[in-house]
Amino acid sequence: MKQNEETILVTRSSIPDLYEYIDEIKSIWETHWLTNMGEKHKKLEYELKKYLKVDNITLFTNGHLALENILAGLNLKGEVITTPFTFASTTHAIVRNGLTPVFCDINKEDYTIDVSKIEKLITDKTCAIVPVHVYGNICNVKEIDNIAKKYNLKVIYDAAHAFGVKINGKSVANFGDASMFSFHATKVFNTIEGGAVCYKNSKLEKTLNDIKNFGITGPETVEYIGGNAKMNEFQAAMGICNLRHLNVEIEKRRKVVEKYNYRLKNVKGIKLNKIPSNIETNYAYFPVIFDGYKLSRDEVFEKLKEHNIIARKYFYPLTNSHKCYKERFKCEETPIAEYISDRVLTLPLYADLDLKIVDKICDIILE
Ligand SMILES: *Cc1c(COP(=O)(O)O)cnc(C)c1O
Repeated sequence: MKQNEETILVTRSSIPDLYEYIDEIKSIWETHWLTNMGEKHKKLEYELKKYLKVDNITLFTNGHLALENILAGLNLKGEVITTPFTFASTTHAIVRNGLTPVFCDINKEDYTIDVSKIEKLITDKTCAIVPVHVYGNICNVKEIDNIAKKYNLKVIYDAAHAFGVKINGKSVANFGDASMFSFHATKVFNTIEGGAVCYKNSKLEKTLNDIKNFGITGPETVEYIGGNAKMNEFQAAMGICNLRHLNVEIEKRRKVVEKYNYRLKNVKGIKLNKIPSNIETNYAYFPVIFDGYKLSRDEVFEKLKEHNIIARKYFYPLTNSHKCYKERFKCEETPIAEYISDRVLTLPLYADLDLKIVDKICDIILE
């Protein structure tokens, strides 16, 4: 590694001005209310409902537990159709609920679930579909909705990457029965750690608030075997601050993405992520597929690393080939996902990424 070059990581968390955050948390020193759905929690919920244009939202301590808890809250049993081209969390949330994941392949264009392959996987045990809006690319929500209606299945989107994305002007949070968002430090919008679920059926609000708090429903009543997945006041305060600046941050991300696109487009063997014109994206990730390029994905990864630039093989390996699932599933059953996973590299992308660094990254890839 070259010593004189600063390390560039794949992402860097957005944080507000220190004094803005101090101002937001000041009242906590008067109330001494640190967690359990306090003022900040209520305020963030309210702000997020406005931002995402949804009627129902419940906050969680992280995105993973948001997904685990909505699957529990919907009281699902049996098989769940999902994709392996995702973060370990999606598959874990299904398995940790005692459900069986059934892996559907992805499509080659935007890496979301291939809707033409869903129906073949449906059995009398299937209860739900958990598709992933991977990289903020939106699944074929219309066709998924048709299939779900036809077979009476629930649809819960892993929308961890898709915060704020709109399709034909409509917020992505409004599709399916529910959508999970992650507010982890590495995501476009963060609450340090955090997450939320948006959902259609307003009756779920009480259920979710109960199961994220040990299943406690009254001073002397515990109705569910719930866990603890509450978002605390400091997380919520960070969210309130970050949300104020989100549109500016997304705009800065756009400039980075445009620079990458300009430098890397029309290069033989390099495939870039296309954003359809009806999608208002959040520029969450910059995935590049190296397929027939003079260097393999792994060679590009190593070459960048020599310059202290740490890209990520995101998503590699597939969840159905993680060590913990190896005996149970086969990645050969999802050949397109396997193909993409072997060739994809996500390049550094964050709001404050200097465009000169973007140029340098492209120079290294292209030289
Ligand atoms: C980040 C992420 C999660 C988990 O969210 P956390 O907030 O980190 O718990 C789930 N699914 C996907 C696709 C993610 O990228």
